[in-house]
Amino acid sequence: IFITFEGGDGAGKTTHIRFLAQHLREQGREVVCLREPGGTPIGERLRDVVLDPACAEMSDRAELFVYEAARAQIVAEVIAPALERGAVVLCDRFCDSTVAYQAFGRGLPRAFVEQANEFSTQGLVPDRTILMTTGERAQVGLERATRHHEADRMELAGLEFHERVMEGFRSLAQSESDRVRIVVSADRKSETSRMIFSELSDLFPW
Ligand code: C5P
Ligand code: MG
Repeated sequence: IFITFEGGDGAGKTTHIRFLAQHLREQGREVVCLREPGGTPIGERLRDVVLDPACAEMSDRAELFVYEAARAQIVAEVIAPALERGAVVLCDRFCDSTVAYQAFGRGLPRAFVEQANEFSTQGLVPDRTILMTTGERAQVGLERATRHHEADRMELAGLEFHERVMEGFRSLAQSESDRVRIVVSADRKSETSRMIFSELSDLFPW
């Protein structure tokens, strides 16, 4: 079973992936937790490039291919083999981020971005995607995300960029409502976690 977590920066994806993984492991399942870009030695190096403020001059098109390169690698090296042996794979970001950030955010043609996604994943689509939002404007999440670390290249991109990204995520949730489920982060983590579990209840006998 392949589950991805998506959403703007600072919505709590990482925390809730950890919660879910722990719960599934207690049930005796093998769980593989990954983040994108990253998750492989090659992917982590590509991540450093794409997030480095010193790479500010990277063109939008180059950026797309860096994400796709990292994705092609993680699918081939980690995700496909894990699914093959029956593990649950939880991934922090995947193709939907590229539609939201590079198509809606950067303005690259969506049809091409979707084609590139299909190419790098060899057609692998998540069984379910949890789209986590702060329910407010992108600014809230951004502030939360940059409280604990220095802003990366994306986080420096400006508020309008991040508003377009959120618009992209909302549009995906609308057009693929079966797969993509919106979860609005509650004040209490346990409440958010309960909502996530309920969006996955047809996949796992809790
Ligand atoms: O979620 P995480 O903080 O690990 O993502 C790293 C950064 O990469 C974020 O700032 C996110 O905005 C950006 N990103 C992007 N396009 C993607 C995936 C992530 O701009 N396709
Ligand atoms: Mg971040």
